[in-house]
Parts: sequence; C-alpha cells; structure tokens
Amino acid sequence: MPRFQCSSSARTGSRSVASSRALATAIVGLLTVIAPPASAQSAAATRLPERAVRREIPITNAIRRALAAGTRDSTGRPGPQYWQLRTDYVIDVSLDPTTSRLTGKARITLHNTSPDALAEIALRLDPNHFLGNAPHAAPWTPAEVTEGMEISRMTVDGRTVNLGAAAPLGDGSTGARAAAAAAAAAANAAASEPVLRNARSTRASIRLGSPIAPRSTAVLEIDWSHKLPGGAGAGHRMVQRWADTLYQPTQWFPRVAKYDDLRGWDPELYLGPSEFYNNFGSFDVNIDVPAGWIVSGTGVLQNPEQVLTTTARERLRRVTASDAILTIVGADEIGPGQATATSTTGRLVWRFHADTVNDFAWATAKKYVWQATRATIPGKGVVPIHMLFLPGRANLYARAGEISRHALEFYSALWFPYQFPQFTLQDGPSAGMEYPMVINSNQGAADHETAHQWWPMVVANNETWYGWMDEGFNQYMNVLSDADAAKTRPDLNGLGQSYGRTSGDESEAPMMWNANYGGPQRYGFTTYQKTPLMLSMLGGIVGDSAVQRAHREWAHAWMFKHPSPWDYMFFMNKALNRDLGWFWYSWLFTTESVDGRIEKVTPAGIRTAVVVAQDGMMPSPVVLEVKFAATGPALRPMKNAVMTDSVTARVTWPVDVWFSGDRRFIANLMFGARPIDSITLDPDRRFPDRKPADNRWQRAK
Ligand SMILES: [Zn+2]
Repeated sequence: MPRFQCSSSARTGSRSVASSRALATAIVGLLTVIAPPASAQSAAATRLPERAVRREIPITNAIRRALAAGTRDSTGRPGPQYWQLRTDYVIDVSLDPTTSRLTGKARITLHNTSPDALAEIALRLDPNHFLGNAPHAAPWTPAEVTEGMEISRMTVDGRTVNLGAAAPLGDGSTGARAAAAAAAAAANAAASEPVLRNARSTRASIRLGSPIAPRSTAVLEIDWSHKLPGGAGAGHRMVQRWADTLYQPTQWFPRVAKYDDLRGWDPELYLGPSEFYNNFGSFDVNIDVPAGWIVSGTGVLQNPEQVLTTTARERLRRVTASDAILTIVGADEIGPGQATATSTTGRLVWRFHADTVNDFAWATAKKYVWQATRATIPGKGVVPIHMLFLPGRANLYARAGEISRHALEFYSALWFPYQFPQFTLQDGPSAGMEYPMVINSNQGAADHETAHQWWPMVVANNETWYGWMDEGFNQYMNVLSDADAAKTRPDLNGLGQSYGRTSGDESEAPMMWNANYGGPQRYGFTTYQKTPLMLSMLGGIVGDSAVQRAHREWAHAWMFKHPSPWDYMFFMNKALNRDLGWFWYSWLFTTESVDGRIEKVTPAGIRTAVVVAQDGMMPSPVVLEVKFAATGPALRPMKNAVMTDSVTARVTWPVDVWFSGDRRFIANLMFGARPIDSITLDPDRRFPDRKPADNRWQRAK
C-alpha cells in the first residue's frame, strides 16, 4: 500500500552532504504538502501520525428526533411509539393499444396513523419522469417523451382539488410555463380550497384546505391518463412496452408518497436509478384490456371464471400438485376463446386483489405463453409460480421456474417464509425489476429479483436513499443461494479484502448518502456491490453464520415495516453482542480501508514479535495464520490461538488493540522455540486492503 511519509532523509544518508542537501531541497519543494520539513523528518519517518478511530455511529437530527419520540430506539427494533401510514387502493384502469395509453380512476384511502395533522398529501407521479423536461439521473434514458401523467379530476373527501396546471393546458405547455401557471393557480386559490402543486413533477403535493387529523382517514380520488413509453431507452423501467402488443406498466398509478417519522413526507424526485419507498396497504385493481390478451400482476386473480377458458382453469388447478412445469396457455392458443374467455364487448376486465403490499405492477400481451409450476415454502406450503413470455423467447424461460423455485425455497429457509400467495415472472422490455409478487425478469436475473420479495417487499427500507439495504443485502444472499444451487459451500473469503482496490477512488460516495445522488460512476458499486464486501468483513469478525442469524432476527423484527440504516446498525450490535460502532462508521459513513501489512518479524527464543501496521483509517482485528516447521520443539498453547492442523495456528487479537490510536501493533507469538516458516495477516482476506502482497512474511531459507 502507498505510504504517505517521505523517507528521503533516510535514503540520502549515504550521499555527500552537498548532493543530499540539493536533493532534499528539491524533494521538499515537491512534497511540502505531504511531508514535514527535512529537520523533522527523522522523527516523522519512523512513525505515521496516530489515527483517531471513531467508535460511535453518527446520529442525524432525524434519528435523534425518532429516538426522543420513541418511534425507534437503540435496540434497533421498532420503538414503542412506532407508526406507519397505510394506504388502500381501488383502481380501475383500461389499456388502449391503439394509443398505448392507460386511463385510470384511483380511489385511495389514506389512514393517518401518525400523531401529526397532515396539512398536505405528497404524491408520487412517476409517469412524469417521461416529460421532456423531467430531471433524469445518467445513464437512464426514457424510451419516449410523453405528456406525462394527465390528471383530469381529483377530490379529497369529496372536495374538488384545484388542479392548477395539472390538466393539459391545451397549448401543450409544460416546464416553466406550466409550473408558473400552477403557482398562479395555487396563489389565487382560497386557503380553504385543496390545491395540487408541482403536478408536472414526479413528486407533487396537495395542499389541503383542512388537515387530516391524527388517527383519522382521508379518501382521495384521482382520474388520470398517460401513455406508456416505448422505443429505445436505457435503464430499468425506461421502456414499458414493445410496440402495441406487449405492455409492462410499472410505477404507473398516482401513489401517495411515504410519510414517516424520520422525514415527514418523502421529498425525493424519481430520477430513474433509485427505485421506491412506499406505504403498505391493500390493492383491488381491475384491468380492462382487449379480449384475448393475457394479464398478470401483483395479487390474486379474483375472477378466473370470467377471463380464463375452462381449459386454462383446469390446468391451473394442477399447478400446485407437483414440481412439473405446466402450460396454462400454449403458443398455439391465441385470441378470445383460446387464450382467454370470449367477450361480447371485445374487452375483458381482470380483477386482482392483494392484502398488504407496497406496490402493484402488471403486464399484458396480445400473445403471452403462460406456464406455471410451484415452490414449496418451508413452514408454509406450496405457492404457484407463473411465467408469462412471448413464444419466441421460451429459451429465456426454460430454467426460470427452477431458479425461482430454488430462490423462494432457499430464502424462505434463510430469513422467513415467502409472504405472498403467488409469484409471477413477466417478460418484456423492462427486464430486471421487482414488485410485490411480481418480477419483470427472465431466468437471467430470476434469483436476484426473487430475493427482493424479502427486501424491499416485506422489510421495506427507503430504497431511494439507502438502496444498499435491499440491493446490497440481495447481492449478499445471492452468493449464498448460488452456492446452495450448485451444492457447494458459499465462499465469502476475499470479498472484504477486495474493497481495498476501490477505497480511495474519489468517485465513490459513502453508502450513507442519498443514492439518488450517488453519482453515475459508482451508483452500482455503492448500492449493490459494496454490501457483500462489508458483510464478508463482518463474517470475518463474528463468523458468517452469526451474521446470518443476526440478520434473520433483524428481518423478523421489521416485517412489513420500514427500518432505517440506524435500526440495522443498532440491531446488529445487539444481536451480535458487540459494539460495532467503529465497523459501521468505517463502512457506511466513509470510504476508508484497513490497508494492513506485516512490517517486521523478529524471532527471539520462545517468542516471535510480529509488527502489524495499518495504514488506512479503518481498523480491524488482527488475524494471523502461523505455519510452523514440521519438526522442532513442542508447540506451547496460546489462549487466543486455535490450531487448524498440526503445523498451523490461527491467532486473533480484537480490534480494540487499535483504539489507542497506534498504527502499529506488536503481536507476540508465544508458541515456543519451534521455527516459524510463514505468517499471513488476514488469511481469509476479509479486511479491505489495497496491497495484499505485503500481508505475508516468510522465513529466509
Ligand atoms: Zn435488485
């Protein structure tokens, strides 16, 4: 690893005074910013500045308030005063393939379980992401510029909401003109009149004439229409249809934003990469499509006898009887009477119901093949797995049933049983996205997307801010699932150490930073890839099975609730019975690494002194693997050592040895006079290190 002190005075010691002075002057000229003056160098060269090891978890004002209010506490479990809003949706929506438009009516019951009177309701209008002037995070590129979400009617408890410029202006105005018109409308509205604000943004709000009292409900009705974007786009959810024959509506209805004890109304815009943070509630969604088109979605189909053929219903009855993959609607069964029931109007309405979910997604195609199989959930029983794909893409679904079954069964055993009554994979352009009970995925990402049914679909973190709490945890569990599927043992060695290669890159934001603004270069790393590295190190300290046991307890504590990162840190500290403040601080709030090395080894009789140095700001336990010569004096026992075979010992000192601030620790090996052949620092490669080569010492032959 790079060292930051300048050892020029030591290197120039053998030169003449004159040349040494000239060289020193030149070097000092170059290095004044990073090295002390030459006169101070003899002392500085022997020792890096001491480091201050921070051991507390930084507490923000929002967390401080939550702790004071008792909504959260230092156990990491929901506090005695914890609350969360509930929103129940009834939606009628109709798809017109000739215009690719959805037209819908939503009736939303908002249960204000908070102790606060709500003077406004914040709305997430994600279809406005496709307006030409909507802000986007690179490299997400919408497939199509649309007119966004066009709201034609809105009421709150029966009172008409002044829409300002939410409705199309007629002259097609959007952007600044529309915003100005909306502002003018809001300014002119009477204080008692409900007014919609920022209607042309992904995050709008209704200023209410009279607040929603604590522990009361409000009913919101919204009629809207929007075009589903099609064409060439980049990034998940940016393309939601293939021409006029397949539609994958996601984040498609007006959603009430999250109101929580930490930030009040969620202020975040939908910028593309970061996904969602939603209230739990029930959904009754009635989807009106042309007869012959198959619809899948979140929830359970309520009217199969009205929309399916007798044959399809017969086949569905057999799905949960075996692991066989059954065809419900085949490639040669097309149109009304074959793919679906017939209809005198040329349309069919598919009715879905879901009890407690935090979103609703669906898909429909003129020609879906529908296959199904089952998963057997430990402690619960069988659930159906549905797969809907285009006939020409059957190869992408050949293993999808088997992969999803394994994922549902494996993660159920690992964390808690899969919570929903069915599971569906939907083919389409927006591949690689997850919703409750539904993934828009083929077999390629099936394991990962299925894993999202645990977070954020049940343990529902704020994904916009802290995507690592679902994407990162997901990446970690995928390592375990992959190994299980391959009938091997998961190997988390090396992951923690590898972070040393990234640490120090100025494009990396800390994980405790709003992922919406994590930056295009490292969004994927920070949100997805870094968490398994962090948990690899944690496993290197407490053991991987302890990490998973504690994480499982945390997951149980937060089912169908909304944990913050602080809840996770506090809970893990408690469950692992350790003060890991230093660990969470380093990994989540900084981009520092350990950068350990063996500096010097001095055998002296029965004792061998190993100087271990850490050049980074993150501390770690000291773990040495000591290999002895095959013969020689008997090995004496050391109380912090275990023998892993007859000539190999694993010796451990806790992280506390660094808390005094020293950058060097003398690890005394007291095994007696048997010669030591080699010593390896961090043999499981769990601690971030940019130059692992200096972690090893070998006796000179
Ligand atoms: Zn994911």
